[in-house]
Amino acid sequence: MALLPVALAQAAPGVAGKPLRVVIDPGHGGADYGTVYQDRTGRVAEKDITLRIAIRVARHLKSMGISTVLTRSQDVEVSLQQRTALANRVQADVFLSIHMNSTPQPDAPEAEGVETFILNNTTDESSKRLAHFENMVLGPSSEMPKELAENTDVALILKDLRLDANLSESKRLACGIQETLVRATSRLSLAPTAKKAGVVVRPRDRGVKQALFYVLLGADMPSALLEAGFLNNTRDRRIVTSPEGRELMGAAIARAIAQHLKLRGTPAATTSLGRCKVI
Ligand SMILES: [Zn+2]
Repeated sequence: MALLPVALAQAAPGVAGKPLRVVIDPGHGGADYGTVYQDRTGRVAEKDITLRIAIRVARHLKSMGISTVLTRSQDVEVSLQQRTALANRVQADVFLSIHMNSTPQPDAPEAEGVETFILNNTTDESSKRLAHFENMVLGPSSEMPKELAENTDVALILKDLRLDANLSESKRLACGIQETLVRATSRLSLAPTAKKAGVVVRPRDRGVKQALFYVLLGADMPSALLEAGFLNNTRDRRIVTSPEGRELMGAAIARAIAQHLKLRGTPAATTSLGRCKVI
């Protein structure tokens, strides 16, 4: 996969000359496997796939001169709070958490494709279920207690967020990632190496959605959470378990983030936000 054109690499200096910094968060880790798919040929864990994709994203961003920090670079446990705390500490311009989806019924026709989330309250049941799963770290006992989820602090953060410029920028970020990723992965069928790996299909575009993901709570910068496909969907799994598929995804995510940063504060950003639909 070709890297970005030079024009994007030159977007590196940020506001007031501060170097651009991105924090990429590979979901789960250590004893927290995330979702796991197992068949006769072996087992695939969400924590491993998210790390591999994140490393590729970081490599591409760095090659564009954008400083990139991973919340974990190994198979270790990191709490949800530590992840955004790190992003705040290094004053990141963007925080992206990467995850893999799953569904109770493997290969259900509707359970396929990429979706990108921003932090907000939702009434959509499937988004609520997903957020519930992603919010669990090491089982239900470490879930945020119900009282806390209903606590006015959380309500206040969400209220602030709605008034905050970060919400618009998070939307623009999520739309950019979703659009770029869907477009890039649709080209997999044309890539001979990916074809050889059995990746010959276009994943479904599930759109940009909103849900209450604890990992995004408290981020002081535009943030999004990517569900990079369903581990128990054959097509999606083929993409993320092939090095070619992951490379293509990593490059696309990096390209979307670089473009997001490049357009920040320009009229083009307003235009792209106007096109951005959140389900
Ligand atoms: Zn996850």
